[in-house]
Amino acid sequence: MTQPIYLVGARGCGKTTVGQALAGVLGYEFIDTDQLLLSTTGRSVAQIVESEGWGGFRAKESAILRSTTGGRKVIATGGGIVLSEANRRCMRANGTVIYLHAQPDILARRLEAFPEEDQRPSLTGRPIAEEIAEILLAREALYQDAAHHVLDASSSPDAVVSAILQRLHPCAAG
Ligand code: ADP
Ligand code: MG
Repeated sequence: MTQPIYLVGARGCGKTTVGQALAGVLGYEFIDTDQLLLSTTGRSVAQIVESEGWGGFRAKESAILRSTTGGRKVIATGGGIVLSEANRRCMRANGTVIYLHAQPDILARRLEAFPEEDQRPSLTGRPIAEEIAEILLAREALYQDAAHHVLDASSSPDAVVSAILQRLHPCAAG
């Protein structure tokens, strides 16, 4: 497969962790849109949101997404990338889109263990589990709409990688 693999899903579903491992197995380049934004602008997600608002951040994120098309890459996206229809279409047209699906309680547990506040500003300032459940409800249809494949992301990172490989190359997986 020479097209990129895009990983989409809520914060904490494992896009970065699973994406790095998947890229390693496939021998693909790994790109994280949040990290790329940080390295190109010199500012974190939280800093961009503070100075330019979520709208400013979303515009930068869309530009980054457009700069990453083509080639053997695994691309971990930001949780809100699917909010833009143009982003959803861009990913579907340029590669294979995988939605890493997990229940809100699992996502909350992971994010509470590793808050990484600077890269993950609170969207509402409310308790994390509550916020995640509400955001997932609002975005579930968008993740589904963007995805070619929906995979359960609640097992270990290695198991999720195996499940993705199985789905992408059903005949080759042993
Ligand atoms: P995302 O990039 O989707 O926001 P991360 O890959 O940063 O998610 O993962 C968030 C946290 O959850 C990290 O601390 C990571 O180690 C942990 N994590 C990710 N995937 C899994 C998994 N499948 N099982 C257990 N913990 C995981
Ligand atoms: Mg990430």
